[in-house]
Amino acid sequence: MVEWEGPLSEAYERALTYLENLPERRVGPRATSKELHEALGGPLPTGPTDPREVVEHLAKGVDDGLLPSGSGRFFGFVFGGATPASLAADWLTTVWDQNAGLYAASPAAAVVEDVTARWLVELFGLPSTTSVGFVTGAQMANFTGLAAARHEVLRRAGWDVERDGLIGAPPIRVLAGAERHDTIDRALRFLGLGTNSIVPIAVDEQGRMRADALAEALDADPGRTTGAGGNAIDRPTIVCAQAGNVNTGAFDPIAEICEIAHAHRAWVHVDGAFGLWAAVSPGLRQLVDGIDRADSWATDAHKWLNVPYDSGIVLCAHPEPHRAAMSIRAAYLIQDEDGERDSLDYNPEFSRRARGTPVYAAIRALGRDGIAEIVDRCHAMARRFADRLKTNDVQVLNDVVLNQVLVRFGDDATTRRVITDVQNEGTCWMSGTTWQGKAAMRISVSNWTTDEADIDRSAAAVLRCLQQVRG
Ligand SMILES: *Cc1c(COP(=O)(O)O)cnc(C)c1O
Repeated sequence: MVEWEGPLSEAYERALTYLENLPERRVGPRATSKELHEALGGPLPTGPTDPREVVEHLAKGVDDGLLPSGSGRFFGFVFGGATPASLAADWLTTVWDQNAGLYAASPAAAVVEDVTARWLVELFGLPSTTSVGFVTGAQMANFTGLAAARHEVLRRAGWDVERDGLIGAPPIRVLAGAERHDTIDRALRFLGLGTNSIVPIAVDEQGRMRADALAEALDADPGRTTGAGGNAIDRPTIVCAQAGNVNTGAFDPIAEICEIAHAHRAWVHVDGAFGLWAAVSPGLRQLVDGIDRADSWATDAHKWLNVPYDSGIVLCAHPEPHRAAMSIRAAYLIQDEDGERDSLDYNPEFSRRARGTPVYAAIRALGRDGIAEIVDRCHAMARRFADRLKTNDVQVLNDVVLNQVLVRFGDDATTRRVITDVQNEGTCWMSGTTWQGKAAMRISVSNWTTDEADIDRSAAAVLRCLQQVRG
Protein backbone atom coordinates (compact mmCIF):
# COMPACT_ATOMS: atom_id res chain seq x y z
CA MET A 1 0.00 0.00 0.00
CA VAL A 2 1.27 3.46 -0.90
CA GLU A 3 1.30 5.76 2.09
CA TRP A 4 -0.48 8.99 1.06
CA GLU A 5 -1.54 10.08 4.52
CA GLY A 6 1.89 11.25 5.76
CA PRO A 7 2.93 13.71 3.03
CA LEU A 8 -0.62 14.91 2.34
CA SER A 9 -1.49 15.64 5.96
CA GLU A 10 1.86 17.39 6.38
CA ALA A 11 1.04 19.52 3.32
CA TYR A 12 -2.49 20.19 4.59
CA GLU A 13 -1.35 21.33 8.04
CA ARG A 14 1.32 23.59 6.57
CA ALA A 15 -1.10 25.00 3.98
CA LEU A 16 -3.60 25.95 6.69
CA THR A 17 -0.91 27.56 8.82
CA TYR A 18 0.38 29.57 5.86
CA LEU A 19 -3.06 30.76 4.80
CA GLU A 20 -4.27 31.59 8.30
CA ASN A 21 -1.11 33.57 9.05
CA LEU A 22 -1.22 35.53 5.79
CA PRO A 23 -3.20 38.51 7.15
CA GLU A 24 -0.57 39.21 9.82
CA ARG A 25 2.52 37.94 8.07
CA ARG A 26 5.22 40.41 7.08
CA VAL A 27 4.53 41.29 3.42
CA GLY A 28 7.94 40.58 1.95
CA PRO A 29 10.60 37.87 1.80
CA ARG A 30 12.82 37.50 4.83
CA ALA A 31 15.72 35.46 3.50
CA THR A 32 18.59 36.24 1.18
CA SER A 33 19.36 34.14 -1.86
CA LYS A 34 22.39 32.74 -0.03
CA GLU A 35 20.28 31.67 2.95
CA LEU A 36 17.77 30.02 0.64
CA HIS A 37 20.52 28.14 -1.18
CA GLU A 38 21.84 26.95 2.16
CA ALA A 39 18.41 25.81 3.32
CA LEU A 40 17.41 24.10 0.10
CA GLY A 41 20.64 23.15 -1.65
CA GLY A 42 23.13 20.40 -1.12
CA PRO A 43 24.39 17.54 -3.24
CA LEU A 44 22.12 15.57 -5.56
CA PRO A 45 20.29 13.05 -3.38
CA THR A 46 21.55 9.57 -4.17
CA GLY A 47 18.91 7.62 -2.28
CA PRO A 48 15.32 7.95 -1.14
CA THR A 49 13.91 10.20 1.57
CA ASP A 50 10.58 9.70 3.31
CA PRO A 51 7.92 11.76 1.41
CA ARG A 52 6.61 13.37 4.59
CA GLU A 53 10.12 14.53 5.46
CA VAL A 54 10.56 15.89 1.95
CA VAL A 55 7.41 18.01 2.29
CA GLU A 56 8.48 19.24 5.72
CA HIS A 57 12.01 20.08 4.57
CA LEU A 58 10.73 21.88 1.48
CA ALA A 59 8.11 23.90 3.38
CA LYS A 60 10.61 24.98 6.04
CA GLY A 61 13.27 25.71 3.44
CA VAL A 62 11.17 28.02 1.28
CA ASP A 63 9.19 29.80 4.00
CA ASP A 64 11.45 32.84 4.43
CA GLY A 65 11.85 33.18 0.68
CA LEU A 66 8.13 33.47 -0.06
CA LEU A 67 6.73 36.78 -1.24
CA PRO A 68 3.29 36.66 0.43
CA SER A 69 1.44 37.91 -2.63
CA GLY A 70 -1.85 36.51 -1.33
CA SER A 71 -1.88 39.09 1.47
CA GLY A 72 -4.54 41.80 1.45
CA ARG A 73 -1.66 44.29 1.77
CA PHE A 74 0.20 43.09 -1.30
CA PHE A 75 -0.08 45.69 -4.06
CA GLY A 76 2.83 44.73 -6.33
CA PHE A 77 2.63 44.27 -10.11
CA VAL A 78 -0.93 43.09 -10.84
CA PHE A 79 -1.08 39.93 -8.76
CA GLY A 80 -4.15 38.31 -7.32
CA GLY A 81 -4.50 35.93 -4.40
CA ALA A 82 -6.55 32.75 -4.31
CA THR A 83 -10.14 32.23 -3.17
CA PRO A 84 -10.85 29.14 -1.02
CA ALA A 85 -12.94 27.33 -3.65
CA SER A 86 -10.45 27.88 -6.46
CA LEU A 87 -7.51 26.87 -4.28
CA ALA A 88 -9.21 23.67 -3.12
CA ALA A 89 -10.23 22.85 -6.69
CA ASP A 90 -6.64 23.45 -7.76
CA TRP A 91 -5.47 20.84 -5.22
CA LEU A 92 -7.94 18.32 -6.61
CA THR A 93 -6.89 19.16 -10.16
CA THR A 94 -3.45 17.94 -9.11
CA VAL A 95 -4.83 14.89 -7.31
CA TRP A 96 -6.90 13.83 -10.34
CA ASP A 97 -3.88 14.56 -12.56
CA GLN A 98 -5.87 14.56 -15.77
CA ASN A 99 -4.32 15.21 -19.14
CA ALA A 100 -6.86 17.72 -20.37
CA GLY A 101 -5.70 17.86 -24.00
CA LEU A 102 -8.42 15.58 -25.37
CA TYR A 103 -12.00 14.75 -24.46
CA ALA A 104 -11.00 11.07 -24.58
CA ALA A 105 -8.20 11.70 -22.06
CA SER A 106 -10.57 13.30 -19.55
CA PRO A 107 -14.27 13.68 -20.29
CA ALA A 108 -14.65 15.41 -16.91
CA ALA A 109 -11.99 18.05 -17.57
CA ALA A 110 -13.40 18.69 -21.06
CA VAL A 111 -16.95 19.21 -19.82
CA VAL A 112 -15.83 21.42 -16.93
CA GLU A 113 -13.91 23.61 -19.40
CA ASP A 114 -16.83 23.65 -21.82
CA VAL A 115 -19.20 24.85 -19.09
CA THR A 116 -16.65 27.37 -17.77
CA ALA A 117 -16.03 28.69 -21.29
CA ARG A 118 -19.77 29.44 -21.73
CA TRP A 119 -19.91 31.14 -18.34
CA LEU A 120 -16.93 33.35 -19.18
CA VAL A 121 -18.41 34.40 -22.53
CA GLU A 122 -21.64 35.37 -20.77
CA LEU A 123 -19.82 37.13 -17.92
CA PHE A 124 -17.88 39.33 -20.35
CA GLY A 125 -20.90 39.86 -22.62
CA LEU A 126 -19.19 38.50 -25.74
CA PRO A 127 -20.84 36.91 -28.79
CA SER A 128 -22.34 33.54 -27.85
CA THR A 129 -20.30 31.64 -30.47
CA THR A 130 -16.98 32.83 -28.97
CA SER A 131 -14.40 30.03 -28.59
CA VAL A 132 -12.23 29.78 -25.48
CA GLY A 133 -8.84 28.37 -24.54
CA PHE A 134 -7.49 27.94 -21.01
CA VAL A 135 -3.82 28.91 -21.13
CA THR A 136 -1.08 29.78 -18.62
CA GLY A 137 -1.57 33.54 -18.59
CA ALA A 138 -2.28 36.62 -20.66
CA GLN A 139 1.10 36.20 -22.36
CA MET A 140 -0.05 32.97 -23.97
CA ALA A 141 -3.58 34.31 -24.40
CA ASN A 142 -2.14 37.21 -26.41
CA PHE A 143 -0.03 34.72 -28.35
CA THR A 144 -3.03 32.51 -29.13
CA GLY A 145 -5.37 35.38 -30.03
CA LEU A 146 -2.74 36.88 -32.30
CA ALA A 147 -2.08 33.47 -33.88
CA ALA A 148 -5.78 33.32 -34.82
CA ALA A 149 -5.50 36.88 -36.15
CA ARG A 150 -2.38 35.99 -38.16
CA HIS A 151 -4.21 33.04 -39.70
CA GLU A 152 -7.27 35.04 -40.66
CA VAL A 153 -5.66 38.18 -42.11
CA LEU A 154 -3.35 36.00 -44.23
CA ARG A 155 -6.16 33.67 -45.30
CA ARG A 156 -8.02 36.71 -46.63
CA ALA A 157 -4.85 37.57 -48.57
CA GLY A 158 -4.85 34.11 -50.10
CA TRP A 159 -2.05 32.75 -47.92
CA ASP A 160 -2.08 29.60 -45.75
CA VAL A 161 0.32 30.42 -42.93
CA GLU A 162 -0.09 27.07 -41.17
CA ARG A 163 1.08 25.26 -44.31
CA ASP A 164 3.44 27.77 -45.93
CA GLY A 165 4.85 29.69 -42.99
CA LEU A 166 5.77 33.33 -43.27
CA ILE A 167 8.59 33.30 -45.81
CA GLY A 168 7.18 34.97 -48.90
CA ALA A 169 3.88 35.82 -47.19
CA PRO A 170 2.27 39.25 -47.63
CA PRO A 171 3.65 41.39 -44.78
CA ILE A 172 1.39 41.91 -41.76
CA ARG A 173 1.30 45.19 -39.90
CA VAL A 174 0.20 45.41 -36.29
CA LEU A 175 -1.08 48.76 -35.05
CA ALA A 176 -0.82 48.99 -31.28
CA GLY A 177 -0.82 51.75 -28.69
CA ALA A 178 2.58 53.04 -27.60
CA GLU A 179 1.65 51.96 -24.04
CA ARG A 180 0.82 48.35 -24.95
CA HIS A 181 2.01 45.59 -22.61
CA ASP A 182 5.39 44.05 -23.45
CA THR A 183 3.79 40.63 -23.87
CA ILE A 184 2.28 41.86 -27.15
CA ASP A 185 5.75 42.44 -28.56
CA ARG A 186 6.88 39.07 -27.22
CA ALA A 187 3.88 37.28 -28.74
CA LEU A 188 4.70 38.87 -32.11
CA ARG A 189 8.28 37.63 -31.77
CA PHE A 190 7.03 34.09 -31.07
CA LEU A 191 4.68 34.34 -34.07
CA GLY A 192 7.48 35.22 -36.47
CA LEU A 193 6.05 38.66 -37.16
CA GLY A 194 8.81 40.41 -35.26
CA THR A 195 8.58 43.65 -33.34
CA ASN A 196 9.26 45.61 -36.53
CA SER A 197 5.75 44.69 -37.66
CA ILE A 198 4.41 47.07 -35.00
CA VAL A 199 3.18 50.51 -35.98
CA PRO A 200 3.05 52.35 -32.63
CA ILE A 201 -0.02 54.55 -32.23
CA ALA A 202 0.13 57.69 -30.11
CA VAL A 203 -1.50 57.60 -26.67
CA ASP A 204 -2.94 60.29 -24.42
CA GLU A 205 -1.69 61.28 -20.95
CA GLN A 206 -3.38 58.23 -19.35
CA GLY A 207 -1.79 55.83 -21.83
CA ARG A 208 -4.97 55.32 -23.91
CA MET A 209 -4.56 54.76 -27.63
CA ARG A 210 -5.79 57.83 -29.50
CA ALA A 211 -8.52 56.77 -31.90
CA ASP A 212 -7.80 59.76 -34.15
CA ALA A 213 -4.15 58.69 -34.41
CA LEU A 214 -5.24 55.16 -35.32
CA ALA A 215 -7.58 56.49 -38.01
CA GLU A 216 -4.82 58.73 -39.32
CA ALA A 217 -2.32 55.86 -39.50
CA LEU A 218 -4.79 53.66 -41.37
CA ASP A 219 -5.96 56.43 -43.73
CA ALA A 220 -2.43 57.61 -44.49
CA ASP A 221 -1.44 54.10 -45.51
CA PRO A 222 -4.57 52.20 -46.56
CA GLY A 223 -2.13 49.39 -47.14
CA ARG A 224 -2.64 47.96 -50.58
CA THR A 225 -0.11 45.26 -51.14
CA THR A 226 0.51 42.37 -53.48
CA GLY A 227 -1.27 39.13 -52.63
CA ALA A 228 -0.16 35.57 -53.12
CA GLY A 229 -1.54 35.62 -56.67
CA GLY A 230 0.26 38.83 -57.66
CA ASN A 231 -2.96 40.86 -57.40
CA ALA A 232 -3.48 44.01 -55.32
CA ILE A 233 -5.04 43.21 -51.93
CA ASP A 234 -5.72 44.93 -48.62
CA ARG A 235 -2.60 44.79 -46.52
CA PRO A 236 -3.11 42.19 -43.76
CA THR A 237 -3.69 44.33 -40.66
CA ILE A 238 -4.11 43.62 -36.95
CA VAL A 239 -5.01 46.24 -34.37
CA CYS A 240 -4.10 45.56 -30.73
CA ALA A 241 -6.20 47.43 -28.21
CA GLN A 242 -5.79 47.39 -24.46
CA ALA A 243 -8.38 47.15 -21.70
CA GLY A 244 -6.50 48.14 -18.56
CA ASN A 245 -3.04 49.69 -18.81
CA VAL A 246 -0.62 47.97 -16.44
CA ASN A 247 0.43 51.31 -14.90
CA THR A 248 -2.65 53.55 -14.99
CA GLY A 249 -5.48 51.03 -15.44
CA ALA A 250 -6.73 53.16 -18.36
CA PHE A 251 -8.79 51.72 -21.20
CA ASP A 252 -8.32 52.31 -24.92
CA PRO A 253 -11.54 53.56 -26.58
CA ILE A 254 -12.51 50.07 -27.73
CA ALA A 255 -15.75 50.91 -29.56
CA GLU A 256 -14.10 53.58 -31.68
CA ILE A 257 -11.08 51.40 -32.33
CA CYS A 258 -13.27 48.52 -33.52
CA GLU A 259 -15.20 50.80 -35.83
CA ILE A 260 -12.11 52.33 -37.42
CA ALA A 261 -10.22 49.04 -37.64
CA HIS A 262 -13.11 47.08 -39.10
CA ALA A 263 -13.66 49.76 -41.74
CA HIS A 264 -10.13 48.83 -42.86
CA ARG A 265 -10.83 45.08 -42.59
CA ALA A 266 -8.39 44.75 -39.72
CA TRP A 267 -8.63 42.17 -36.95
CA VAL A 268 -8.97 43.67 -33.46
CA HIS A 269 -7.30 41.87 -30.57
CA VAL A 270 -7.86 43.19 -27.04
CA ASP A 271 -5.34 42.66 -24.25
CA GLY A 272 -7.59 42.73 -21.18
CA ALA A 273 -5.38 40.83 -18.75
CA PHE A 274 -7.14 42.38 -15.75
CA GLY A 275 -9.25 45.14 -17.32
CA LEU A 276 -11.65 42.78 -19.08
CA TRP A 277 -13.10 41.95 -15.65
CA ALA A 278 -14.52 45.48 -15.51
CA ALA A 279 -17.13 44.10 -17.94
CA VAL A 280 -18.63 42.11 -15.03
CA SER A 281 -19.31 45.20 -12.91
CA PRO A 282 -22.50 47.08 -13.85
CA GLY A 283 -20.90 50.27 -12.52
CA LEU A 284 -17.64 49.94 -14.48
CA ARG A 285 -18.83 48.19 -17.62
CA GLN A 286 -18.89 51.42 -19.61
CA LEU A 287 -15.06 51.32 -19.52
CA VAL A 288 -15.14 48.41 -21.98
CA ASP A 289 -17.91 49.80 -24.14
CA GLY A 290 -17.88 48.06 -27.54
CA ILE A 291 -15.82 45.14 -26.27
CA ASP A 292 -18.14 42.60 -27.92
CA ARG A 293 -17.19 43.98 -31.33
CA ALA A 294 -13.54 42.92 -31.12
CA ASP A 295 -12.28 39.72 -32.77
CA SER A 296 -10.20 38.22 -29.96
CA TRP A 297 -9.48 38.86 -26.29
CA ALA A 298 -6.84 37.88 -23.76
CA THR A 299 -7.39 37.88 -20.03
CA ASP A 300 -6.18 36.31 -16.80
CA ALA A 301 -7.93 34.32 -14.12
CA HIS A 302 -4.87 34.48 -11.85
CA LYS A 303 -5.06 38.26 -11.54
CA TRP A 304 -8.49 39.64 -10.72
CA LEU A 305 -10.51 36.45 -10.44
CA ASN A 306 -8.02 35.37 -7.74
CA VAL A 307 -7.45 31.87 -9.10
CA PRO A 308 -4.05 30.31 -8.20
CA TYR A 309 -1.26 30.47 -10.78
CA ASP A 310 -1.12 29.84 -13.59
CA SER A 311 -4.34 30.61 -15.34
CA GLY A 312 -5.05 32.73 -18.41
CA ILE A 313 -7.90 32.74 -20.91
CA VAL A 314 -8.03 33.42 -24.64
CA LEU A 315 -11.37 34.13 -26.30
CA CYS A 316 -12.02 34.37 -30.01
CA ALA A 317 -15.14 35.62 -31.78
CA HIS A 318 -14.28 33.40 -34.74
CA PRO A 319 -13.85 29.74 -33.75
CA GLU A 320 -12.59 28.75 -37.21
CA PRO A 321 -9.40 30.83 -37.29
CA HIS A 322 -8.88 29.98 -33.61
CA ARG A 323 -8.98 26.25 -34.38
CA ALA A 324 -7.06 26.63 -37.63
CA ALA A 325 -4.20 28.29 -35.77
CA MET A 326 -4.06 25.79 -32.89
CA SER A 327 -5.47 22.46 -33.99
CA ILE A 328 -3.36 19.40 -34.59
CA ARG A 329 -4.19 15.98 -36.03
CA ALA A 330 -2.27 12.84 -35.33
CA ALA A 331 -3.11 9.27 -36.20
CA TYR A 332 -2.72 7.93 -32.67
CA LEU A 333 -4.94 10.52 -31.01
CA ILE A 334 -8.60 9.87 -30.32
CA GLN A 335 -10.20 13.11 -31.43
CA ASP A 336 -13.82 13.70 -30.82
CA GLU A 337 -16.03 13.89 -33.89
CA ASP A 338 -19.25 14.48 -31.95
CA GLY A 339 -18.62 18.07 -30.98
CA GLU A 340 -17.10 17.29 -27.59
CA ARG A 341 -14.31 19.62 -26.58
CA ASP A 342 -10.73 18.66 -27.44
CA SER A 343 -8.78 21.49 -25.84
CA LEU A 344 -5.82 21.06 -28.17
CA ASP A 345 -8.05 22.70 -30.80
CA TYR A 346 -7.91 25.93 -28.79
CA ASN A 347 -4.59 25.78 -26.93
CA PRO A 348 -0.94 25.93 -27.89
CA GLU A 349 -0.24 23.07 -25.44
CA PHE A 350 -0.54 19.38 -26.22
CA SER A 351 -0.60 17.54 -22.89
CA ARG A 352 -1.92 19.97 -20.34
CA ARG A 353 -3.20 20.49 -16.82
CA ALA A 354 -6.97 20.89 -16.41
CA ARG A 355 -6.57 24.63 -15.85
CA GLY A 356 -10.24 25.33 -16.28
CA THR A 357 -11.19 23.45 -13.11
CA PRO A 358 -10.10 26.11 -10.55
CA VAL A 359 -11.70 28.77 -12.79
CA TYR A 360 -14.95 26.79 -12.70
CA ALA A 361 -14.82 26.62 -8.90
CA ALA A 362 -14.03 30.33 -8.58
CA ILE A 363 -17.00 31.34 -10.73
CA ARG A 364 -19.34 28.85 -9.07
CA ALA A 365 -18.38 30.06 -5.58
CA LEU A 366 -18.59 33.77 -6.32
CA GLY A 367 -21.28 33.99 -8.94
CA ARG A 368 -21.58 37.01 -11.21
CA ASP A 369 -22.42 39.25 -8.25
CA GLY A 370 -19.45 38.06 -6.20
CA ILE A 371 -17.03 38.73 -9.05
CA ALA A 372 -18.52 42.18 -9.62
CA GLU A 373 -18.17 42.81 -5.89
CA ILE A 374 -14.42 42.02 -5.98
CA VAL A 375 -13.92 44.35 -8.94
CA ASP A 376 -15.95 47.14 -7.34
CA ARG A 377 -14.29 46.79 -3.96
CA CYS A 378 -10.77 46.81 -5.42
CA HIS A 379 -11.73 49.94 -7.37
CA ALA A 380 -13.08 51.60 -4.22
CA MET A 381 -9.98 50.55 -2.22
CA ALA A 382 -7.67 51.95 -4.94
CA ARG A 383 -9.51 55.28 -4.70
CA ARG A 384 -9.28 55.19 -0.92
CA PHE A 385 -5.53 54.57 -1.14
CA ALA A 386 -5.14 57.52 -3.53
CA ASP A 387 -7.19 59.76 -1.20
CA ARG A 388 -5.20 58.76 1.88
CA LEU A 389 -1.94 59.66 0.14
CA LYS A 390 -3.09 62.72 -1.79
CA THR A 391 -3.97 64.71 1.29
CA ASN A 392 -0.33 64.60 2.29
CA ASP A 393 1.52 66.36 -0.50
CA VAL A 394 1.94 63.29 -2.65
CA GLN A 395 1.16 63.35 -6.37
CA VAL A 396 -1.24 60.81 -7.83
CA LEU A 397 -0.27 60.68 -11.50
CA ASN A 398 -3.29 58.87 -12.95
CA ASP A 399 -7.06 59.01 -12.95
CA VAL A 400 -7.99 56.10 -10.71
CA VAL A 401 -10.57 54.60 -13.06
CA LEU A 402 -9.92 51.00 -12.01
CA ASN A 403 -7.58 49.32 -9.51
CA GLN A 404 -4.26 50.99 -10.33
CA VAL A 405 -2.76 54.01 -8.56
CA LEU A 406 0.46 55.69 -9.70
CA VAL A 407 2.12 57.75 -7.00
CA ARG A 408 5.10 60.07 -7.02
CA PHE A 409 6.87 61.61 -4.07
CA GLY A 410 8.34 64.83 -5.45
CA ASP A 411 11.33 63.57 -7.42
CA ASP A 412 12.79 60.35 -8.82
CA ALA A 413 15.31 59.75 -6.03
CA THR A 414 12.77 60.22 -3.23
CA THR A 415 10.20 58.07 -5.05
CA ARG A 416 12.63 55.18 -5.54
CA ARG A 417 13.87 55.45 -1.98
CA VAL A 418 10.32 55.33 -0.58
CA ILE A 419 9.53 52.22 -2.66
CA THR A 420 12.62 50.40 -1.34
CA ASP A 421 11.93 51.49 2.25
CA VAL A 422 8.29 50.38 2.07
CA GLN A 423 9.40 46.98 0.77
CA ASN A 424 11.89 46.66 3.63
CA GLU A 425 9.44 47.88 6.25
CA GLY A 426 7.08 44.94 5.60
CA THR A 427 3.57 46.31 6.27
CA CYS A 428 2.76 46.20 2.58
CA TRP A 429 4.54 45.60 -0.70
CA MET A 430 4.45 47.54 -3.94
CA SER A 431 6.71 47.90 -6.93
CA GLY A 432 7.95 50.83 -8.96
CA THR A 433 7.79 51.89 -12.57
CA THR A 434 8.71 54.73 -14.85
CA TRP A 435 5.70 56.62 -16.14
CA GLN A 436 6.24 59.21 -18.89
CA GLY A 437 9.88 59.50 -17.91
CA LYS A 438 9.24 59.84 -14.19
CA ALA A 439 9.77 57.34 -11.39
CA ALA A 440 6.50 56.25 -9.76
CA MET A 441 5.20 53.82 -7.18
CA ARG A 442 2.60 51.43 -8.59
CA ILE A 443 -0.24 50.40 -6.31
CA SER A 444 -2.37 47.60 -7.71
CA VAL A 445 -5.39 46.54 -5.66
CA SER A 446 -6.16 43.09 -7.03
CA ASN A 447 -6.62 40.91 -3.96
CA TRP A 448 -10.10 39.72 -3.03
CA THR A 449 -9.43 40.17 0.74
CA THR A 450 -8.15 43.77 0.71
CA ASP A 451 -10.31 45.91 3.01
CA GLU A 452 -10.35 49.43 4.46
CA ALA A 453 -8.08 48.46 7.35
CA ASP A 454 -5.48 47.09 4.94
CA ILE A 455 -5.54 50.33 2.95
CA ASP A 456 -5.33 52.59 5.99
CA ARG A 457 -2.49 50.59 7.55
CA SER A 458 -0.60 50.53 4.25
CA ALA A 459 -1.10 54.21 3.49
CA ALA A 460 0.16 55.06 6.99
CA ALA A 461 3.25 52.90 6.40
CA VAL A 462 3.98 54.62 3.08
CA LEU A 463 3.66 58.07 4.70
CA ARG A 464 5.92 57.00 7.59
CA CYS A 465 8.58 55.90 5.12
CA LEU A 466 8.22 59.17 3.20
CA GLN A 467 8.65 61.17 6.38
CA GLN A 468 11.82 59.29 7.24
CA VAL A 469 13.25 59.77 3.75
CA ARG A 470 12.52 63.49 3.94
CA GLY A 471 14.15 63.54 7.39
C1 LIG B 1 -0.18 40.94 -16.62
C2 LIG B 1 -0.44 41.43 -17.98
C3 LIG B 1 -0.07 40.68 -19.10
C4 LIG B 1 0.70 39.40 -18.98
O1 LIG B 1 -0.06 38.45 -18.29
P1 LIG B 1 0.54 37.13 -17.67
O2 LIG B 1 -0.63 36.51 -17.01
O3 LIG B 1 1.60 37.57 -16.71
O4 LIG B 1 1.09 36.32 -18.78
C5 LIG B 1 -0.41 41.16 -20.35
N1 LIG B 1 -1.07 42.33 -20.49
C6 LIG B 1 -1.43 43.09 -19.45
C7 LIG B 1 -2.16 44.38 -19.68
C8 LIG B 1 -1.13 42.67 -18.15
O5 LIG B 1 -1.48 43.41 -17.10
